[in-house]
Amino acid sequence: MPAQPTWDQGAMEALKAKIENFLSECVRCGYCQSKCSFLEKYGLPPDIIEDEPESVFLCTNCGACSKVCPKELKPSEALFALKYELISNGKLSEKTKRAIESSRRYALRGHRFPFVHYPYTEIAFWPGCSLQGTRPDIVKKIPEMLKEVYGKVGIVLDCCFDPAFQNGDLDIVEKAATKIKERLKAHGIKKLILGCSNCLKIFKLYMPEIEVDHILNVLPDGQKNFSLSHKEVYLHHPCPSFRFEELQERVFKIASIHFSIAKQNTIPMCCGLGGLSHNLNEELSEKFTERHNCAGDPQTIITYCMGCKNRFLKMGKEAYHLIEILTDAKQMKKPLGSKKKWLNRLILSTSLKLKSKRVVVAILLTLSILFATLLRSKGYFTIENIFELIRA
Ligand code: SF4
Ligand code: SF4
Ligand code: SF4
Repeated sequence: MPAQPTWDQGAMEALKAKIENFLSECVRCGYCQSKCSFLEKYGLPPDIIEDEPESVFLCTNCGACSKVCPKELKPSEALFALKYELISNGKLSEKTKRAIESSRRYALRGHRFPFVHYPYTEIAFWPGCSLQGTRPDIVKKIPEMLKEVYGKVGIVLDCCFDPAFQNGDLDIVEKAATKIKERLKAHGIKKLILGCSNCLKIFKLYMPEIEVDHILNVLPDGQKNFSLSHKEVYLHHPCPSFRFEELQERVFKIASIHFSIAKQNTIPMCCGLGGLSHNLNEELSEKFTERHNCAGDPQTIITYCMGCKNRFLKMGKEAYHLIEILTDAKQMKKPLGSKKKWLNRLILSTSLKLKSKRVVVAILLTLSILFATLLRSKGYFTIENIFELIRA
């Protein structure tokens, strides 16, 4: 499977120029349109660029159009460049601006106190927002499972800013990446094991100097003892995994141990959560999800993105994340809402902070100072008393 086309910050200028080339080369065959609910509704990529540019924020960046274009053009890259251009010149409706701002706020919240957490270990597990919000129990289990191979493994809680990246909001992603690199350096973290393929994409694009690997590349395969092993399943590869051919092959191998795979997506098929479609146009977002609902397909979906799994559960499907199988964790059967996910993240980050010796010492010191101040204000002791005590 060839990797999904990539773009990076340095190539953005060239990509913008390529919008023009794309427009001149597209033969309007419509093949890409048949694979995409967004194009079905809004028209061919050249129509979007020329007539409905702002609708481009409903594009999920899945890359399916570029995979199937018989002329080997890259419509997804031209559309992504258009997002960047529109954000840069700021000519957007209030509704779109608000949606873009909401993605920024989401990413920033996960990037700041009290949700952010960095340990002082050389190797750390970075679960990503979705996994830490939905399965904090699994997140806590992973360092234990990796101990034999890597020794002490800490847990980093932070956001890679992919929600902003998906909108073409690249300046804020760049700033966040700089901050993440500083934090990793300050904590002496040299290698990250990532729990999310979107995070893997962002690290490869913005922080290539950091050594990273995907959790499914490093966890043991697990035993064939899963109760669903007799059933046929549909293996859903999340969109960013199409950049990482080896990861997809590894996932296929692991999934085949546990399940009988009747079908898998060979081109990206967004679950409906990509881009801003779920924020600006829920009906369109559901159309993306419904594409996974072809008659006769296996009803059980196996995937390796918690965002996708949560989305499939919301649409009434039976869905597993492979990590639930490999960590022998109980299956999450119901989708979680946003409040519950943020609460999970808060509890997880607080419990990790309380485990850190440095934080415990800081809390004890603060409490001692507060206690001493209180006693002093009540007149129980004075500075003179303390000196007398020392002299005695
Ligand atoms: S498949 Fe390629 S050539 Fe055909 S309409 Fe889409 S972008 Fe244009
Ligand atoms: S949603 Fe996917 S297939 Fe559709 S235009 Fe965007 S990148 Fe292409
Ligand atoms: S890619 Fe998604 S899951 Fe991963 S850190 Fe970013 S927002 Fe969270």
